[in-house]
Amino acid sequence: MGSQVLEPPVTKKAAADGLQFEKLNVDGYEQVLKVTHKKVGLNALIAIHNTVLGPALGGTRIYPYASFNEALDDVLRLSKGMTHKSAVSEVGFGGGKSVIIADPKTQKTPELLLAFAEAVEKLGGTYICAQDSGCTNEDVQTLRKGTKYVVGLPHEKGSGDPSPFTAWGVFRGVQATLKKLFGSDSLEGKTIAVQGLGEVGSRLVESLFWAGANLILSDLNSAKVEHFVRRFGAKAVSTEQILRVECDVLAPCALGGILRDQTIPELRCKAVAGAANNQLHRDSHAIALRDRGILYAPDFVINAGGLLNVSAEIEETIYNPTASRYRVHHIYDTLLAIYEIAEKNQESTHQAALALANYRIKYGIGKRMVPPTFHH
Ligand code: NAD
Repeated sequence: MGSQVLEPPVTKKAAADGLQFEKLNVDGYEQVLKVTHKKVGLNALIAIHNTVLGPALGGTRIYPYASFNEALDDVLRLSKGMTHKSAVSEVGFGGGKSVIIADPKTQKTPELLLAFAEAVEKLGGTYICAQDSGCTNEDVQTLRKGTKYVVGLPHEKGSGDPSPFTAWGVFRGVQATLKKLFGSDSLEGKTIAVQGLGEVGSRLVESLFWAGANLILSDLNSAKVEHFVRRFGAKAVSTEQILRVECDVLAPCALGGILRDQTIPELRCKAVAGAANNQLHRDSHAIALRDRGILYAPDFVINAGGLLNVSAEIEETIYNPTASRYRVHHIYDTLLAIYEIAEKNQESTHQAALALANYRIKYGIGKRMVPPTFHH
């Protein structure tokens, strides 16, 4: 991996304003840019992994990474994941992601967000940003002041918060997983362990409860857990225990990298199906899960509900939540098809999902025919 100072899209004005781009050469990625603005303290990375099927779409994560390399590693993994997620979902977008190295609680200022937005604007629509961890609804409205290439805005023509759609997609994914395991997708009497009760996890828990599931829950924030214990009669376990509890489905809805050498031998679930991005520490851990007879719902397939919803906002027609809901509903069918292919080919479900994504990219299946329309 090398680096060079980028010519376009840097303009004289941008340089004079203090916005600097540096291009990092990373194999397999179309563009990786380091973006800085000393005066406002901006230190960010934008990774555009693949735009064969359409412009790269992916959220902006604001996080106090311990090092530049940690941030780079994250943006590379996340942008690649977005390529696969978009391809499987057939949304006519490519894969991209951005990270701003900053503590969202103390270092996020309007000036910093506007400088970042200016950088996105200069890419001319090759990359479209959105909400992500550390980047709130209010923040995307600030970003909109500096760029039109932002989605998920909470205005009347926008699609708003993606989390309810992600949560519903995960619920449908859990149902599909039960169907594969037991021949029925009923949640009645099934035990589901949920790690993380944030925007997605809390909504998932609600749907699971009403569908008849027994719940085992964990979160760093004990108040959130207590709330659901009281409301839904859920069982609370510690953050260390949640990956080891006996259950039908474990739904990781907190952080990535949890399926690894140390954790997989201790799992006591029949399946893993949850919202978290990059659940596998390495691709080979999907094979380790398969060897243990644990069915794995590939994260970039089951958690695509938010992407499906947000992408509807930039179609020619005005955003329609009902159409979005039906598309999210079909995550059930996509997962069942992937389970089927994996079984037939005697490969992991992750390999089957990757093969499906790469097939679509290779043959341009689902490629965007008309440029995205920004209604704001
Ligand atoms: P969030 O930040 O709202 O919630 C995460 C929750 O996990 C928090 O309540 C946090 O306290 C808890 N948590 C953190 N570490 C934990 C640990 N070790 N054990 C137990 N709980 C822990 O995030 P979210 O929007 O709900 O997203 C959850 C996951 O799903 C993330 O990995 C995110 O990248 C992924 N995802 C979210 C969306 C979306 O639409 N929000 C879409 C796709 C993927």
